[in-house]
Amino acid sequence: MRMKNKTTLITGASNGMGAAEAKLFANEGSHVILADIQDDLGEKLTEEINQSGGSAEYFHLDVTDESNWEKMILHIRERSMKLDVLVNNAGISASSPDLLNIDIFDNVMKVNTRGVFLGMKYCIGAMLETGGGSVVNISSISGIIGQSYVHMGYSGSKGAVRLMTKSAAVQYAESGIRVNSIHPGVMPPMTTSEMTADPEFRKIMLEDVPMNRVGLVEEVANAVLFLASDDASYITGAELPVDGGLTAR
Ligand code: NAD
Repeated sequence: MRMKNKTTLITGASNGMGAAEAKLFANEGSHVILADIQDDLGEKLTEEINQSGGSAEYFHLDVTDESNWEKMILHIRERSMKLDVLVNNAGISASSPDLLNIDIFDNVMKVNTRGVFLGMKYCIGAMLETGGGSVVNISSISGIIGQSYVHMGYSGSKGAVRLMTKSAAVQYAESGIRVNSIHPGVMPPMTTSEMTADPEFRKIMLEDVPMNRVGLVEEVANAVLFLASDDASYITGAELPVDGGLTAR
């Protein structure tokens, strides 16, 4: 079990990739806090995880709402939990033929970028008090390249996640906090997808995928698990050279 005695908070855990991550982390021994705005779905999944021998709890958390994050962290502190992992997974699509729509821009930046920033603000704050942790931010291939059918607000929101990740990684490395991002390509459609959920449209999207198939949520979950676990610790457990590796060995 790679996450024994750890606590993992996953946002957007009621559906899709977040749900797959919640199940995998629970199977690997972590206590999982599933956070989402779709309470019924999240509570149902939490119950399933607990009934199959895992340890999970559901918490209503709108990632855009700072007061929700304050409540989340208060909850963690009141129960004397050590937060080891934050998976900033919650996100919305901006899939629409109206590529210049400002409301879509504002909305997607609010959830995908502000939500991730707030997650880091509150959870890194908690991790600093308890000796470190790991943050995994779910970005997208859209945060790396331009795509003819993707609203620039979505690309911008995910590009921002990529660079906020790099900023946080260098700012908190010395405090024992690792921060990484993951950039999935074509996956099963998001619940908020419209145009890009159309099977005919998806055929066009798959033309850019060399393996000619969508990624599976479990495949992304495995990558998240690796980055969150001590397998990706960089230094923990390794025999460190006394001079930090300045001289050849
Ligand atoms: P999904 O729609 O299946 O799940 C997203 C979850 O986020 C839902 O449970 C939803 O309720 C939750 N959510 C939305 N707004 C929220 C808010 N304000 N506060 C809390 N929770 C909120 O989508 P998914 O495909 O599982 O996507 C997960 C992540 O992966 C997203 O960040 C998405 O942008 C990213 N991504 C998705 C794809 C894809 O093609 N599906 C590709 C690359 C990256």
